[in-house]
Amino acid sequence: MELVDVAIAGGGPAGACCAAFCARSGLRTVVLERERFPREKVCGDCLNPSCTQVLERLGVRERVRALPHAALSRVDFIAVGGRAISIDLPPGAEIAVKRSLFDELLMTRAVETGAVTRQGATVSDLVSPRSKEERWKITAGSEAFAAQVLVAADGRNSTVARLLGLLPRIARERVGLQTHLPLPKGFGPRVVLQFLPEGYSGQAPVGDNQLNLCLVGKPSSIAALRVWAETSFRLPRNHDWRTITPLRRAALPPSGDRLFLIGDAARVVEPFTGEGIYYALRSGELAAEAIISLFASGDALAAAHSYTEAHEELYRGRLWVNRLARAAVLSPKISSGLLRIGALPSPILRLLTSKIVRLP
Ligand SMILES: Cc1cc2nc3c(=O)[nH]c(=O)nc-3n(C[C@H](O)[C@H](O)[C@H](O)COP(=O)(O)OP(=O)(O)OC[C@H]3O[C@@H](n4cnc5c(N)ncnc54)[C@H](O)[C@@H]3O)c2cc1C
Repeated sequence: MELVDVAIAGGGPAGACCAAFCARSGLRTVVLERERFPREKVCGDCLNPSCTQVLERLGVRERVRALPHAALSRVDFIAVGGRAISIDLPPGAEIAVKRSLFDELLMTRAVETGAVTRQGATVSDLVSPRSKEERWKITAGSEAFAAQVLVAADGRNSTVARLLGLLPRIARERVGLQTHLPLPKGFGPRVVLQFLPEGYSGQAPVGDNQLNLCLVGKPSSIAALRVWAETSFRLPRNHDWRTITPLRRAALPPSGDRLFLIGDAARVVEPFTGEGIYYALRSGELAAEAIISLFASGDALAAAHSYTEAHEELYRGRLWVNRLARAAVLSPKISSGLLRIGALPSPILRLLTSKIVRLP
């Protein structure tokens, strides 16, 4: 059994970011990742400008910008029926990068700072420590690890949360589909958020002449959304789509005894807001700060409290954006009606957009 200070389940943005900060401070850190990178994910691929500061502190800001990407200059909200309202974004603030490239870069950064990674290593079993002297025992693939601290960074269907009995019953209220396709001619440097009778679609160029296309709808309407996409983007019936569910679930307590939940594992936000990667990065950084203080002071309770407070603070005052976005996408016909009759005028959409991309 390998002894480590910190074991992190999941190597997405949350896990890789947390690993890099922990390893950089000298902690023996292992990331246990189910997939083999590079891999795509169901995501709109858009990086909110707030990510920049965390990426700067991680030392990868320029390397992210050097990846193939698209710089996005406006958001087009399109109602059912086609009426569109455009909101400008500050130049260069929001970019879209394929997750295969972005996530692999972050994992590379984690390794550069001293973290060890295991890919193709699914966390499948856990034994919680029963005393201060004991460690977490984690089975991942064919290996076993004993860790002082465990971090759940394994996404919205977190295995760690499930094994610890923390995961609530999840309703399949909606499903997300995502794919990449050749960029349609003249698409432009814009994010499209399009209300459809059956749900909504997000579209954004991601560099290298490709378009990210996401569809979100109820299980009963997702087939119709797919037909809409096949027709609108001339895709073959056997086109490959990635899929994910749920799009919504209750938030979990972000910390326990030498346990930290970060990113989607702790709280899932509405994809429409395009903020999930920022929360993943920042919560990974905040958890690392708490873990570093835990090793310095030996006070696990204080570390858990400080992370829980910082985590609440991270979302405080912002959940209305999430609720508003969710209300809008759950009632596409009502939202479209408001857009059509001008009851959602540009200033309101501009305010919402500025809250989401945190424009000055
Ligand atoms: C349709 C849709 C569109 C979205 N668009 C955007 C957008 O444009 N911008 C944005 O910021 N956010 C967007 N999001 C949200 C964003 O994708 C997530 O918030 C973000 O990926 C969370 O990062 P994470 O590191 O917490 O989890 P994830 O990215 O889900 O990473 C979790 C990792 O854990 C691994 N894992 C899972 N189980 C195990 C296990 N048992 N053992 C080991 N490893 C495991 C997985 O393989 C994965 O690599 C979107 C979400 C959806 C559904």
